[in-house]
Amino acid sequence: MKRAEIEKKLKKELDKERYAHTIGVMYTAASLAMAHQCNLGQAMYAGLLHDCAKCISNHDKLKLCKKHNIPISISEKRSPFLLHAKLGAYFAKKRYKVEDGEILHAIQVHTTGEPGMNALDKIIYIADYIEPNRCKAPNLEEVRKIAFEDLDKAMLKILSDTLEYLKRKGGEIDPLTLRTYHYFKNEL
Ligand code: FE
Ligand code: FE
Repeated sequence: MKRAEIEKKLKKELDKERYAHTIGVMYTAASLAMAHQCNLGQAMYAGLLHDCAKCISNHDKLKLCKKHNIPISISEKRSPFLLHAKLGAYFAKKRYKVEDGEILHAIQVHTTGEPGMNALDKIIYIADYIEPNRCKAPNLEEVRKIAFEDLDKAMLKILSDTLEYLKRKGGEIDPLTLRTYHYFKNEL
């Protein structure tokens, strides 16, 4: 599907705020791809579709994952919103006809990250965090600057801030997020 077509469809699927965020992530991912010599088209498609399964109730997310044989981890069972990443990759393929496995993978890992993630994966993860509509995260100004200089450093900063926030708030920490954090800590 052409990007304009996907945008039109997403406008109906997502609420207003989520749609604005989606467009923000698409253009931020494009900018990061330019800064780091990555494929622009892949970054834009992955950014556009990363939250395509976000505006579905937790109940339906679980139901749809079971229906389509998408494995549900223990932490996803406890925090079903995490499933929008896996389900999003599934929808991107089935409903939006994306065949590029790298785009689908970037969508799949955009919430928790993953050890060994590639440049496109990092770009989407980071764009999701820094796009212009975001305003709540700590150190945003600093992370935005680092993102255009060094993807790995930006990943580590986002992951450590996220873990700290979740610990403080008593939120559910997905073991994969923790593993991803240690991966980048070892890399740097
Ligand atoms: Fe998301
Ligand atoms: Fe997002």
